[in-house]
Amino acid sequence: MSYVDEVIAQVIKENPAEPEFHQAVLEVLESLRPVIEANEEKFRRDALLERLVNPERQLKFRVPWIDDNGQVHVNTGYRVQFNSAIGPYKGGLRLHPSVNLGIIKFLGFEQIFKNSLTGLPIGGGKGGSDFDPKGKSDREIMAFCQSFMSELFKYIGADTDVPAGDIGTGAREIGYLYGQYKRLKGMFEGVLTGKGLSFGGSLTRTEATGYGLLYIVEELLKCHGQEIAGKTVVVSGAGNVAIYAIEKAQQLGAKVLTATDSTGWIYDPDGIDVAALKEIKEVRRQRLSEYKNYRPNSEYHEGKGVWSVKADIVLPCATQNELDLEGAKQIVANGTKVVAEGANMPTTVEATEYLQKNGVLFLPGKAANAGGVATSALEMSQNSERMSWSFDKVDAKLKGIMVGIYHNIDDAAKKYGLDGNYVAGANIAGFEKVADAMNAQGIV
Ligand code: NDP
Repeated sequence: MSYVDEVIAQVIKENPAEPEFHQAVLEVLESLRPVIEANEEKFRRDALLERLVNPERQLKFRVPWIDDNGQVHVNTGYRVQFNSAIGPYKGGLRLHPSVNLGIIKFLGFEQIFKNSLTGLPIGGGKGGSDFDPKGKSDREIMAFCQSFMSELFKYIGADTDVPAGDIGTGAREIGYLYGQYKRLKGMFEGVLTGKGLSFGGSLTRTEATGYGLLYIVEELLKCHGQEIAGKTVVVSGAGNVAIYAIEKAQQLGAKVLTATDSTGWIYDPDGIDVAALKEIKEVRRQRLSEYKNYRPNSEYHEGKGVWSVKADIVLPCATQNELDLEGAKQIVANGTKVVAEGANMPTTVEATEYLQKNGVLFLPGKAANAGGVATSALEMSQNSERMSWSFDKVDAKLKGIMVGIYHNIDDAAKKYGLDGNYVAGANIAGFEKVADAMNAQGIV
């Protein structure tokens, strides 16, 4: 059996009931095949792949907190410190009822390669909890965040592990987490990113993932002799990534037709009104069904179905595995030219293969949504030098990084005769740097 197949089989056997983690490992290792097979003996002797798929450390802890009625609840907290070969662990904290160890491991594993692609010195990690922030009062959110940090603070630090936001963890949660860390450690250091601007946050961090997604799509189109202006776009999600992807797409002259949340989706033939979307989701924290009150011309649909809308560009920006084979078939039938992942692993393996086989230019999340973590690393730099850079300076660096990522993954794909396969290109380019650092640092 080939070394790649052996390791895949081992991962499935040793990590039962973690399908998302299996999926992420399978996707990465499959596309690394040409790289591994070119040097199989050495990789096998060094157990390089076994060290890559086993986290350096994984923490699981209880998070007790008290609700407004005096009832105690116990959630589970996680932090997976996956790989520190190229820098301190870096990756978000997800707060969502679906969170389990397998999901955190899939996200942490992906994060290794994404962080490597940014060209910045950050290792891979991820964390979170099965806590559901929806419908909780501010005091309940604070109680949870303080309890979560009361355990996590022992394992993180500006030079060891720097968590950030993710699904369910926005500016409010980062603020409460940071306050508790500072209280327990007695130290004002850049231990979390996505902080408020008044206490060490970076301008452009809020916008970074969505804006970065559009910058890489812009470069992809440019290299294929096209531009974003005048294109129609389907976006899923209505959270941080989706909102700023919509904003930047419209700034660049595209028309965004849709947004989704966990209950349904909206279609606005005149282009999504970003101000209304921000008011509903960021300020009032309401359902998308409210959008019709702002834009009577729009439609609200319960449940799924957004992939049926015809557009030139599709940007899945909500959650993992939201775009399946059936959705991919609709997208191809609609004549879509580009699919770029704003979310982490929103496209199933079968859907990705179908899109690629049918000539759709497909940018995987680990490249396309790397703008968020890249800007987090820029926040770390600003914290270290006790400086705050202007919006334009951070935005310009973000754009440079995203353009660089596109060429990096394009070149890596070409180097192995896989022209246009950006999934393989991203995995190979991300892997090569990490493998090089792991080799240089010996068996650790
Ligand atoms: P948010 O919590 O801000 O928004 C998530 C959006 O997706 C919401 O509209 C939410 O609906 C919807 N959603 C969440 N879970 C589900 C589900 N199971 N089914 C259907 N819809 C769902 O998260 P972000 O925008 O920050 O993150 C979105 C994705 O992007 C995630 O995959 C995340 O890991 C990834 N990502 C985020 C980065 C960032 O900087 N924020 C960086 C890189 C990747 P509702 O409004 O109903 O809650």
